[in-house]
Amino acid sequence: MSLDASSLRKVLQLEAEKGCHDSAVIGGLDRFLNSCFAGPSDLAGRFTQDKNLRQHFLLKSGYAALDLKQRADWVNKALSLLEEPGGIKAAGGSRTETAAKLPPKPVAFKHILHSSAETVKHLKISKTEIPNLTLEAEITAIKGISPNIAARFRKLGVKNIRDLLYFFPRRHLDYSDRRTISMLSEGKEETIVASVWQAKVVNLGRRRNTEAIVGDETGNVRVIWFNNPYVARSLKTNDRIIISGRVSLYHGQYVFQSPEWEPEESETIHTGRLVPLYRLTQGLRPRQVRKLMKLVINQQSGKIPEFLPGEVISRQHLLGLGEAISKAHFLDDIAQKNRARERLAFDELFLLQIGVLSKKRSWQDSQPGSAVVLNRETRIILDKFIKALSFHLTAAQDRALQEILADMAKPRPMSRLLQGDVGSGKTIVAAASLLAAVASGFQGAFMAPTEILAEQHFNTLSQLLSRSGQNTVEETKLCTYTGLMPGPVTVALLTGDLDAATRRSLHQKIRAGEINIIVGTHAIIQKDVAFHRLGAAIVDEQHRFGVTQRLALRQKGANPHILVMTATPIPRTLALTIYGDLDLSVIDQMPAGRQVIKTKWLRPEQRPGAYNFIRREVGKGRQSFLICPLVEESEAVQARAAVAEYEHLSREVFPDLKLGLVHGRMTAGDKDSVMRQFRAGELNILVATPVIEVGIDVPNATVMMIESADRFGLSQLHQFRGRVGRGPEQSYCILLAEDPSEIGRQRLDIIERVYDGFKLAEEDLNLRGPGEFFGTRQSGLPDLRMARLSDVAILEAARKEATLLFTQDPHLKTPPHLALANELARIWPESAEWS
Ligand code: ADP
Ligand code: MG
Repeated sequence: MSLDASSLRKVLQLEAEKGCHDSAVIGGLDRFLNSCFAGPSDLAGRFTQDKNLRQHFLLKSGYAALDLKQRADWVNKALSLLEEPGGIKAAGGSRTETAAKLPPKPVAFKHILHSSAETVKHLKISKTEIPNLTLEAEITAIKGISPNIAARFRKLGVKNIRDLLYFFPRRHLDYSDRRTISMLSEGKEETIVASVWQAKVVNLGRRRNTEAIVGDETGNVRVIWFNNPYVARSLKTNDRIIISGRVSLYHGQYVFQSPEWEPEESETIHTGRLVPLYRLTQGLRPRQVRKLMKLVINQQSGKIPEFLPGEVISRQHLLGLGEAISKAHFLDDIAQKNRARERLAFDELFLLQIGVLSKKRSWQDSQPGSAVVLNRETRIILDKFIKALSFHLTAAQDRALQEILADMAKPRPMSRLLQGDVGSGKTIVAAASLLAAVASGFQGAFMAPTEILAEQHFNTLSQLLSRSGQNTVEETKLCTYTGLMPGPVTVALLTGDLDAATRRSLHQKIRAGEINIIVGTHAIIQKDVAFHRLGAAIVDEQHRFGVTQRLALRQKGANPHILVMTATPIPRTLALTIYGDLDLSVIDQMPAGRQVIKTKWLRPEQRPGAYNFIRREVGKGRQSFLICPLVEESEAVQARAAVAEYEHLSREVFPDLKLGLVHGRMTAGDKDSVMRQFRAGELNILVATPVIEVGIDVPNATVMMIESADRFGLSQLHQFRGRVGRGPEQSYCILLAEDPSEIGRQRLDIIERVYDGFKLAEEDLNLRGPGEFFGTRQSGLPDLRMARLSDVAILEAARKEATLLFTQDPHLKTPPHLALANELARIWPESAEWS
């Protein structure tokens, strides 16, 4: 759109007529004048050419700041300047020639969205020409956003006006608290305003840095922009610039290293306040984006429909949506920013919670579950089982178990996540839960991701049961125990490697209900496995399974109670966020007497020392794991490497010790027998590929040595480390890395220093971001812009409100919830639930 001088004159005349109260255009003359300069138009062209005009119209502190007399003078002068020769003649003026050349154009006042009807009438603009922009309108509808700029915004994920309003700044620079150079102190983030004395490119090796000296009335300071020769081009001697960044000490002098900077300006969008910093892409400049944002926020933030029910807003003391969005961009103090963020983070978590709650409801409603009645007999059986253990349950284990039992007693199927760090003792909690189901007459299933682990769980269950009862039948894959409860308890191991006859016989017994607890791998969820009466199912190391596998298990039997367990510690917020359809129990306590596993990252030349160390531990009767390098993702290649390593170690390094080897290419039977030997203490050292990453429990093992440790992720390293330190002895984790990458180094550094799985998970998230953290980008984790993992309080509030809403108006059909239902339908268009 373009604006011509005659239209501008009309606005100014109107302003004069109305007594110079800055009321001719809504939003004020300053904003209007600003928009006159922008974009290609005859008028803009004149501004560029005509210095007098420019000087007059570039009001230093703005029209609004003038008093009435000054305004009147200014308007009169402006009107006369607009009439000057070479300019555009006002209507009825004498220079008909010019007027004829440049006839007044109809004005499309698209950009003055709030123009009063009066102004509009005065300017002879029909009302229909003012687009009533919706939030879904493309951003090109906004004055000042050309298709070209829009394309750049698209790269940042911004298409429509809503996107733009939700395009929150990365952070705000606090220019409101300026320092003088004499006030600077080391290590702090500081802002100064200074003049450029000198700026040049300095070559340092292959790097081309900009170095500048800037000064104010109190002194000078050096500024370096590493790898950035471009800044030098933008800085000229005597330029006034604002610098904001961390101050460090270099050769005894203060220096700003790669700080944010911008020229000083009088406009308060960019300086003298908390200034938003936006993500940029090539072709978008910070000032341009900021200016646009300011314009859009001013015009549009008032139009955003509120979707939270009023009750929720007042109960949670939240800002209104429009205000929150506006304050998230332009704010006066940090308190406002926090309030804005609180509201917006609440929205994200609240909507998410409603989403997951509705998912949960939809499957819970589909079929009733099987109530595992906790009668007196069941309690006695459980007590007996737990008393027979060689240890007491930790308080955390007990709490988790009670939560699970309470869930299972309800007719709605349980859907619970049991989270506990490696070695926190989840297995026993799982076993007790299964037993409760069995005592109530149901079958239980226990699914593990690997054969080794399934076998281990089978053994553990067998041992636990034999403590409290007598073993009557024992085959390799099937054990029956009596004495614990009125009837016998039969446990079976179902893995993929069974011969056809055994498999058929097991399937038949499962179907007939002769087997009470089925432990196994994916084999459990195969089509041909039918249960007699499955009441509870447990998925161990659930992150190793896909959602579909969890679903398949759910469909076995009559909607069984499901407990999924994971040792990948996920911060609570994130767990509730992504597994929000699951209830959460956390074992946040280790069994008594566990020691910190001493972890050391060794240089390659320290390898012989490591071998000696293992030898000494073996001398004390302990055992050791040795994890082979992760060669590549091919099991075959890894197996070969492991065989080579095993042979080398057996022959050259530990010829006098007993070594075993497990890798993914061995048959299940061979793996079993090696694991069995190792567990029985017949092997001193177990050489293994990463197959033993999860779950393995051999309390006598005290050393975990990991080759090429830099190649593994943090959670994997933590899992490996968790294979030791399971008994009373001091345990050790030795990390070897030949030539780690930068990120590899960071990981080794972290694992050496951090023992707590939850803290590690936080570090891991910081290192990788949530998408990668979960292995797949499509982890179902929505785009959380404002919510943080540490927002536990907001999350709890959001969860509480979402739950309450679900009890009050489960399908959001009442008027106060319609706006919310609309918002949900917008976010999840594929879900028929809300439309
Ligand atoms: P994870 O949570 O990693 O699956 P496990 O269930 O394998 O851990 O338990 C780790 C080890 O701790 C096992 O040897 C188990 O017998 C032992 N354990 C479990 N609970 C306790 C406890 N309350 N006190 C002492 N040892 C325990
Ligand atoms: Mg485990």
